[in-house]
This record gives sequence, structure tokens and C-alpha cells, in this order.
Amino acid sequence: MAWFQSRYDKAGPGGTGADYLNCPMNKEQYEAFVDALIAGDKTDFKEWEANTPYFDGCLPIEVMAERGRETLRHGPMKPMGLTNPRDPLVKSHAVVQLRQDNALGTLFNMVGFQTKLKYGDQARILRLIPGLENAEFARLGGLHRNTYLNSPRVLDGQLRLKAEPRLRFAGQITGCEGYVESAAVGLMAGRMAAAEWHGRPVSLPPVETAMGALINHITGGHIVTIDEGPRSFQPMNINFGLFPPIGAALRNETGKRMRGPEKALARKRALTARAKQVMASWIGGVPGAAF
Ligand SMILES: Cc1cc2nc3c(=O)[nH]c(=O)nc-3n(C[C@H](O)[C@H](O)[C@H](O)COP(=O)(O)OP(=O)(O)OC[C@H]3O[C@@H](n4cnc5c(N)ncnc54)[C@H](O)[C@@H]3O)c2cc1C
Repeated sequence: MAWFQSRYDKAGPGGTGADYLNCPMNKEQYEAFVDALIAGDKTDFKEWEANTPYFDGCLPIEVMAERGRETLRHGPMKPMGLTNPRDPLVKSHAVVQLRQDNALGTLFNMVGFQTKLKYGDQARILRLIPGLENAEFARLGGLHRNTYLNSPRVLDGQLRLKAEPRLRFAGQITGCEGYVESAAVGLMAGRMAAAEWHGRPVSLPPVETAMGALINHITGGHIVTIDEGPRSFQPMNINFGLFPPIGAALRNETGKRMRGPEKALARKRALTARAKQVMASWIGGVPGAAF
């Protein structure tokens, strides 16, 4: 029933284009699954959790189900780019993807399936997924809280605590999210500390680069990006919305103004090309800037 395939056969870390195990659902199975999630027994919030907003990139599946019956099908359960080899002409209504978790291939994790359901209900509801009827759960899901500074208010442009500048912050606590992002902010903080120690001027990566865009987001920035207006500071993965927009209208080979998905892709390509170019000239122009 389930099959191995990466979305759009994209070669992942394994290089095979088949890094995920896909469990398909038809409409009835999906509707029953959404009903079960909505009715499921949820863990009570502790006092401190009640006022903690969810990070949008990690919403629990039952919260997504409550937000709209179609939400999961357009989120972690989207069926796009996947073809069931046993039934290639029938498009699945929704697909749950599992990713291998250990070298032996005995553990799989469920992609995008954060949950706050009580353990008993998690096992019962997740076994409704076709292919997982007899699954054994090595570890059930839980939620964690991120603690982070209100960096635009309390940190200066060099990640120092305004109230106590001998303290410099790095990583997720500054309001980035993710492994690469945390390491990038750590690298920048380390370089700033070294420059300060040696009495050298600090040169930050320009805002057109991913590292510059990230630190601009964290420290409040000087350039207004797409999210104009009063901002609520939230931890962020690096994303194209943090880069200053490309001014010029994007046109295709026939000279027509691009629209829709074509425009979105071209915009990302243009932002990436600009970032690479600006990064290269920044590295070239700053003594000791090469990482
Ligand atoms: C369940 C889960 C799944 C995740 N999955 C992904 C993923 O797939 N991809 C991704 O990019 N990111 C993921 N993240 C986010 C990622 O883990 C973090 O963004 C990243 O690890 C943050 O790195 P950091 O070095 O800033 O902080 P941490 O990795 O949290 O390191 C902080 C360290 O400080 C230590 N510490 C805390 N207080 C003290 C103290 N008083 N004294 C001494 N030491 C202290 C802690 O023990 C810890 O080792 C996930 C996070 C979680 C919780």
C-alpha cells in the first residue's frame, strides 16, 4: 500500500529520489482522519503554555485540522509530486510521509506531524493511516517551548545586550530558528567578538545575503522588508521574505511581465543570484572576512 518516493523524485541525501515512505489516503480516509484529530484527547495546557503562541512552521496536526478541514491536505499531508506505483492514474487525496530515522531502517519519523494529543489517542489515531495499522511507536510526539529574547529591543546591531554590552548572544535564543541559522548567527557573533577583541572594525554581511538578512531580522534592521508595519518579533528560519525585494519588474524571454508561479520562481532565483554576488564582493572587500 505504501511506497518509497521523494516528492517530484528529487534526489535527497540518499541520492535515490526515494527517501520517503508514502502512505496514501482517499477522501473518506482523510475525512475520517481529520474527524479523529478534532475529536482526539488533547494534553491540557500548563499555565505558562496557555499564552505561548505556536511557531507557524511547527503547528500541531490537530490544531491544523481545527483551523480548516483542507489545511492538512495543503500542508504536511499534501499529495503533490507523488505517484502511487500500484495505482498511477489515481491521485491520492492526501499523503503522509515517513522519513527513515536510523541506518538499519527500523525507525521512521512522520514528517511535519507535531502533536499535542495524549499518547493513547496518538497511537490510536495514527494507526488510522493506511499502512500504519500495525505500526509500533518507538517515541510519541510532544511539543517544546522556544525561549527567545525580544532581540530588536534588547540587543544592539552587534548582538550585544544593550543593558550590558559585554554580553553577546548567538543562536536560537536571539530569534532565529534551525540548525544552519543558529550556526550562522553563532559564526557572526564569534567574528564580531574577535573583531572587537582585536580592535578591528566590524563588517556585517550585507542585508542582501542570507546571513545579513537573518541578522537584520534579529536586530530590528534598518531596511524595511516585505513585512512592513509594526512587527511582532517571532523566531524565523531563513526565508525569501526577509530579503529586500528586487525592484525591477520580472519579465520572461518574450518581454512579458511575469505572473503567478513563474514570477515567484524567477523572484527566488533573482534574490539568490543577487545574494551570491553581494556575498562574493563583501568577502573580497573585507580583510579577514573569508569564512
Ligand atoms: C524536537 C526538535 C526538532 C528540531 N528539528 C529541526 C530540524 O529538523 N532542522 C532544523 O534546522 N532545526 C530543528 N530544530 C531546531 C534546532 O534544533 C535549533 O534551532 C538549534 O539546535 C538551536 O541551536 P543553538 O545552538 O542556538 O541552541 P541549542 O541547540 O538549544 O543549544 C543550547 C545549549 O545550551 C545549553 N545550556 C542551556 N542553558 C545553559 C546554562 N545555563 N549553562 C550551560 N549550558 C546551558 C543547552 O543544554 C544546549 O546544549 C529542532 C528543534 C527541536 C526541539
